[in-house]
Amino acid sequence: MLLTLTTTHRPATDLGYLLVKHPAKVHAFDVPTGTAYVLFPEAADERCTAALLLDVDPQRLAAGRGGRRQQAAPESFALGQYVNDRPYAASSLLAGALAKVFRSALRGESRDRPELAGAAIPLEIRVPVLRCKGDAAALFEPLGWHVTVTPIPLDKVPEGHPLAGDSPYADLTLTGTLRLADALNHLYVLLPVLDDAKHYWVAPDEIDKLLRAGEGWLAAHPEKVLITRRYLAHRRSLAASALELLDRDDPDTVDAPADTAADEDAELPAVRRQSLAEQRRDAVLAALAGSGATRVLDLGCGGGALLSALIKDKRYTAIVGTDVSARALDLAHKRLRLDQLPERQRDRVTLWQSALTYRDDRLKGYDAAVLMEVIEHLDPPRLPALEASVFGHAHPATVIATTPNAEYNVLYEGLAGMRHSDHRFEWTRAEFAEWAQKTAAAHGYDVALSGVGEPDETHGTPTQMAVFTRKDPA
Ligand code: SAH
Repeated sequence: MLLTLTTTHRPATDLGYLLVKHPAKVHAFDVPTGTAYVLFPEAADERCTAALLLDVDPQRLAAGRGGRRQQAAPESFALGQYVNDRPYAASSLLAGALAKVFRSALRGESRDRPELAGAAIPLEIRVPVLRCKGDAAALFEPLGWHVTVTPIPLDKVPEGHPLAGDSPYADLTLTGTLRLADALNHLYVLLPVLDDAKHYWVAPDEIDKLLRAGEGWLAAHPEKVLITRRYLAHRRSLAASALELLDRDDPDTVDAPADTAADEDAELPAVRRQSLAEQRRDAVLAALAGSGATRVLDLGCGGGALLSALIKDKRYTAIVGTDVSARALDLAHKRLRLDQLPERQRDRVTLWQSALTYRDDRLKGYDAAVLMEVIEHLDPPRLPALEASVFGHAHPATVIATTPNAEYNVLYEGLAGMRHSDHRFEWTRAEFAEWAQKTAAAHGYDVALSGVGEPDETHGTPTQMAVFTRKDPA
């Protein structure tokens, strides 16, 4: 895997200072995926090129050194983990090596040439063999690059053969006048995005890495959704939280509640996704307000989409978010900035890790419980356990549940299957009504069913909602 970086800013050999690598030497670094070399094929006053060459060690990749299992996703045959394009094609592995080898340059730091590190200089970046599934121009051009992508044809394949034509590889050249740090951060984020293969196990700290590398450019990038999703290897809940954090920095979207609730409709077209999430949250808030509740549970709170709205409303004196996922709670904690809330505010909010399929005494004594887009994440045989713990054990005066209306799905162009990859089922109106009535009857509740979102005459509304009201007063 090879990447070269050229400047004509004079004296061009200052590139060595910026990268903290002497142009006269070959530098070798041990990285988790093999050995990275930095060398300078040309180093003159008027033009200097640094090359980053990653010599991938297939055995290390297969063994997943350093506790990080490298998932060789596209290689489904037995020797695939040894025989693959990793050693040759630039990808997330190269991005990883780049981050390690040019660490201070990525941060924009330079001990010897601090001013130059902060200045835009003429740069040319070439990646001769890039595994390229996306549209490189759409990703790099908005950042100020002139982009040349030359597809690499497959050789020795007879015409008419199914494999004839261009390979999934391309030769990429970027030219522009940018800060070196910006250039490196663009590559660090966008190489894996173009590659789109999941070589890395995505840890929550990847969000922080992405936000750090994307500082100053990602929030305003027109393809930020695609970039974030792919960078985080399609782990949707992570991608949603990262987007949300990004939106904070984007002046155009400060108030846009892009949140995990929006993420619930991950497969829907973006415009609909956003507004549906808002409508759903507002419907739940209205039902809660109508119930007169002041002490509320948000069960399966995810990244805290609803909690943040509840916190803003003074009528709620005790607000609890629970989720089975520690990661979700972690994100909610960050999103709500609980650490930064004044103590009196903070005391109103609690996050608990709790599984809805187990009775939890802590959930007793609240006025209302919300299950917003949660039931469809449970395998149907586990639902009775949820009913017993929420309606039976916690037994609040009000339970509000929302779930997708499967009938409406035909109206979403391009939606194949369900709205989210983790949904175990999506119910028709009749199925939801049957469940709601049965559950209400079993636990002493009345139930009112309604729809959320733009109604369609035949297929109903995109989201359905049930408000359960306990019959006995205590
Ligand atoms: N209510 C949030 C999140 C919906 S996503 C919103 O509307 O934005 C569904 C959430 O339910 C996820 O965060 C998932 O971790 C949680 N969940 C799934 N099964 C659960 C269980 N058995 N117990 C508790 N939470 C669960």
